[in-house]
Amino acid sequence: MNIPKLSCPRIVIIGGGFGGLSLAQKLSKKDVQVVLIDKNNYHTFQPLLYQVSTGGLEPDSIAYPIRKVLKDYSNFYFRLADVQEILPEEKSILTTIGDLNYDYLVIATGSETNFFGNKEIEKNAMAMKSIPQSLNLRSLILENFEQALLTDEMHERDALMNFVIVGGGPTGVELAGALAEIKKGVLPKDYPDLDTRRAQINLVQSGDCILPGMSKKASEKAEEFLEKLGVEIWTNIRVTSYDGKVVTTKTDLTFNSATVVWAAGVMGATIKGIDAEELLVRGNRIRVNEFNQIPNYPDIFAIGDVACIENKDTPRGHPMMAQPAIQQGKNLGENLARLLDGKALKPFAYKDKGSMATIGRNKAVADTKNFKFQGVFAWFVWMFVHLFFLIGFRNRAIVFVNWVYNYIRFDREARLIIRPYNRDYSQFKD
Ligand SMILES: Cc1cc2nc3c(=O)[nH]c(=O)nc-3n(C[C@H](O)[C@H](O)[C@H](O)COP(=O)(O)OP(=O)(O)OC[C@H]3O[C@@H](n4cnc5c(N)ncnc54)[C@H](O)[C@@H]3O)c2cc1C
Repeated sequence: MNIPKLSCPRIVIIGGGFGGLSLAQKLSKKDVQVVLIDKNNYHTFQPLLYQVSTGGLEPDSIAYPIRKVLKDYSNFYFRLADVQEILPEEKSILTTIGDLNYDYLVIATGSETNFFGNKEIEKNAMAMKSIPQSLNLRSLILENFEQALLTDEMHERDALMNFVIVGGGPTGVELAGALAEIKKGVLPKDYPDLDTRRAQINLVQSGDCILPGMSKKASEKAEEFLEKLGVEIWTNIRVTSYDGKVVTTKTDLTFNSATVVWAAGVMGATIKGIDAEELLVRGNRIRVNEFNQIPNYPDIFAIGDVACIENKDTPRGHPMMAQPAIQQGKNLGENLARLLDGKALKPFAYKDKGSMATIGRNKAVADTKNFKFQGVFAWFVWMFVHLFFLIGFRNRAIVFVNWVYNYIRFDREARLIIRPYNRDYSQFKD
């Protein structure tokens, strides 16, 4: 990997997401060598992926070069590689570009889509966990409408304009809201020769309410907002399969659909070597102590989505959200410095800053510790928070300008098929 061996300890961080970057920033002034490895050369701001999928933002505005984050730090090295295995006994990792030894290792690999072992859904449904996946979804949505223009068969047309989003958490809700706004504001202008009123957006949730992680008020208000936008919400319905054409559920309900988005779950993105069953908890997350240290491996830590601090306050770990990852990264940065100074470690204490979801223009819901609010104010707060946490002035400026433009013009100009998805449409012909 061409990384010099220095006299100071080497800390290897796998993953330049929210957790990995906040840790790297915290270590910037310490006397250590930091090697950050990521399979992408950019950080992805996942909370805005749905806006890329729906043409509201260009992908570049929610991605940020990892090298640029690290450019002013000395003793920092970035390598673009996929880490494939950890060898704890040898204190080394195997990657697609070679192996590397570490003194301390931090796993900050985040999470991946959880299809709960259903291979058919995995093969045919769309996931939205990365920029390439969001671009695939954007292309597919637009290609479906182009295809719908080419057929006189009502049945086929309807299936092409029928969107099924599985999972009523924030991702599903935000995507459903954005699609409903496109249906209302963009499609009639783009496709005057297509009856786009027939387009359907279905949000399917296995539980009895949407946004189950938020307050009852937020859930009810989100439901009301979505229904006003014309989204069909199906609760207590568990999707069982999707063959690329028909979505089946545990009930008699089925959907004919060319686009199914799977937003029903994520699981920890573990790496071979630290993936034995006894090291993991529910959701494929690595069990760590309150210092984010893996039991029996004092020099290996895990933070963010992939890590689970199981204790009486958080029996199922912290929420798989950006804030726990950021805060764990910062705490671990301090703890690694303490460890090197021979000082006692500080347990992680999560400061819950609340959660939010946006449904559409002027429509959002927010739960904070002291206040729960919905509507226009929540929407402004949502925008401010997302702009604040985006990395890079350029990205913030571009996103802000895009949002103002979209707001004034009721538009989404990034509705471009740059990289066609090329779905096989033959199955809709019969
Ligand atoms: C669509 C969507 C919307 C979301 N909305 C919100 C929201 O509104 N608010 C909120 O708080 N959270 C939201 N989240 C969740 C939030 O993005 C995650 O909780 C957060 O990104 C976790 O941070 P992390 O550092 O653990 O992992 P990530 O940010 O996912 O970073 C993991 C990094 O590890 C890299 N990596 C993984 N495996 C390897 C490997 N083997 N080798 C090398 N590199 C590897 C990846 O490329 C990635 O850069 C959303 C997530 C999604 C998918």
